[in-house]
Order: sequence, then C-alpha cells, then structure tokens
Amino acid sequence: MRLLVLADHDNRSLASTTARVVGAVQSIATEIDILVAGEGVESVAAQAAKLQGVNKVLAADASHYKYQLAEEMAALIVPLMEHYDGLIAAATNNGKNILPRVAALLDVAQVSDAQAIIAADTFERPIYAGNAIEMVQTSDDKLVLTLRPAAFAPVSGGGSAEITKIPAQPAVGISGVTGQELSRSGRPELTAARIVVAGGRGIGSRENFKRLEQFADRLGAAIGASRAAVDAGFISNDFQIGQTGKIIAPDLYIAVGISGAIQHLAGIRDSRIIVAINKDPEAPIFQIADYGLVGDFLKLLPQLETALDKAGLLPPYTRAGRH
Ligand SMILES: Cc1cc2nc3c(=O)[nH]c(=O)nc-3n(C[C@H](O)[C@H](O)[C@H](O)COP(=O)(O)OP(=O)(O)OC[C@H]3O[C@@H](n4cnc5c(N)ncnc54)[C@H](O)[C@@H]3O)c2cc1C
Repeated sequence: MRLLVLADHDNRSLASTTARVVGAVQSIATEIDILVAGEGVESVAAQAAKLQGVNKVLAADASHYKYQLAEEMAALIVPLMEHYDGLIAAATNNGKNILPRVAALLDVAQVSDAQAIIAADTFERPIYAGNAIEMVQTSDDKLVLTLRPAAFAPVSGGGSAEITKIPAQPAVGISGVTGQELSRSGRPELTAARIVVAGGRGIGSRENFKRLEQFADRLGAAIGASRAAVDAGFISNDFQIGQTGKIIAPDLYIAVGISGAIQHLAGIRDSRIIVAINKDPEAPIFQIADYGLVGDFLKLLPQLETALDKAGLLPPYTRAGRH
C-alpha cells in the first residue's frame, strides 16, 4: 500500500506527531512518502527526510501554503492521490481541518481518530467520549485516515529519504488568515508532555490558577484545564483537555479541582497514572484515579510539595533549567 503522510509543522519545525504517524502505518505500508507543504519549508523537509522508514519527502513551497488552509491544501493533495492508496495525518488541528475536504473531493468516507490499526482497511476508534471502542472497516479504494498520535510509538531519526520539490497548485484564494495570536510558553507542550497538571472550576480564581502553575513548573509539567476552568476565564482555551479539547497521554496526570465529567475523562484516558486532588470524596474523578487526595488543594499542594521534596522527588527545577 503506497501511503502519503501529511506532515504536521509550523514552517520551521516538524511536530513529533508526524514521527508517530509514520510509526503507526509501517505495518500496512509498502512505501511511505511525506508531504511537507508550507512557506520556507526546506528545514522541515530535511527533518522529515530523517524519519526512519520514509521513502520520499515531497516539498511544496508557496506563500499560499503558509497557514495550511484546508482549501489550498486540498487543491494540492487531491491530484497527488492518483499515485497513492491512502492519505494519513495526525488528528491534530491541521489533520482534522484538511483531511475531510480531501475525502469529500475524492468521494470517500474518512476514518477519523483511529487509535489502533488492525489491518489496511480496519481500524479501532473511540466513540461516546471514549466509553466504547468501535471497529470500522472501509471499503473505499482510497484510504483517508486521521490517527490519534499519542496511541502510537514514533519512528526514530537517522533516515535519509530523498527530498523532491513539487510545484505548487495555483492559489484557490477563497479563504485567508486575518490575524493570529500565538500563545508562547516555556512549559512542555500539552499533548507531548510526560507530566500534566490540570486545574478545574474548583481552583476558584485566576490568581489561584497561578499557584497551580507554580506547582506544575516545579514538576517540569505542562499545564491543562477543564472546560469549566476555561469558561471561567482562569486560562485560555488552548489548554482545555477533553472531548472538545486536547487528548493527552502523559505518564502522570494530576487533576486538581476537577470533578471528572465524562467529557473531561475522554481526554485523559490514555494517561498512565492519574492523581486526583478534590475536596469532595464522592467526586467521580476518584473512580478512575490511581491515587486520590481528598481536601482543599490550597492546603494539600504545599503538603504534597514538602513530601515530594523530602522524598527527593521534587528538584527545584526552574522552567528554563529543565527545558
Ligand atoms: C458537548 C460537551 C463537550 C464538553 N467538552 C468538555 C471538554 O472537552 N473538557 C472538559 O473538561 N469538559 C467538557 N465539557 C464540560 C463537562 O461536562 C463538565 O462541565 C466540566 O468538565 C466540569 O469541569 P470541572 O470538573 O472543572 O468543574 P466541576 O464539575 O464544577 O467540578 C469542580 C470540582 O472542584 C472541586 N473543588 C472545589 N473547590 C475545591 C478546592 N478548594 N480544592 C479541591 N477541590 C475543589 C469540587 O469538589 C468539584 O468536584 C463538555 C460538555 C459538553 C456538553
């Protein structure tokens, strides 16, 4: 099966999700090419070429690919699909935006959000906010698939795929970007972090949320939030975890002042160890937590920090020192 993987990047760096997608499809592919489309993407193409198991990197460089808008990207990808049996992307903002348009133009049914590959046409994906797993089989002759990157191991670097520049298609020009606000943080990225500390409505205020951020920084953790915390304005919605937020799979997830609604749990099920801090002993989050601390987080966080310090588990990393 010849597969085209859509690279996830910001015109400078290749996201680690691309290595996971390549890792995921190795069992069903005879040949894997990567498409890097953007503006000034030589360095991204070079990074993609280093991924193990990649045959060729197709690089399309044009100003109208800068923001990877679905309309422009689909016009580029659809003609390429003549040479491929499938198009695969991570189920990230770009993958979720671009692939449905490609699928519609190819007149095939997309398989979305797969977390396991059973065969070249058969996949497992979560439904009902992760409460059930559905097995889907496609009968379309072209596969259009998004994958949950956290469910798959990445391939390593050290490869040396050929890079081929491909011509851009004429600009479609029916959509554009009028402005962009980028959130900058020295903390690890939420979906890739090994440790995530998340706050909910129980944090109570934006000021209290800063206390939680201090705790996260001491652990070298990413910060996350429930939707209620986002809606209350404690933190921006980039940090929302759950069904309508980010799906995470850290080694350690610490939920503070979060009740454990199913829509939130949908985003944290793949965490290896879940710790919950909540003042309500009946909070549903305790049903899935590996460890629970019952009490007011403002009292418990300092105690937890002292205990971790004493156990030598909380070195006083600074954010800059850790990363
Ligand atoms: C279609 C749809 C999609 C949704 N998508 C998402 C999503 O992606 N992500 C998401 O998170 N939610 C989502 N929700 C909302 C979800 O249903 C819940 O409303 C939300 O997760 C609740 O957030 P919370 O746990 O922070 O707040 P609450 O449910 O209000 O819980 C707050 C918790 O804090 C505890 N607490 C209070 N004070 C303290 C204290 N001082 N110390 C310790 N604990 C304290 C309380 O005991 C309580 O358990 C969605 C809902 C719908 C309908």
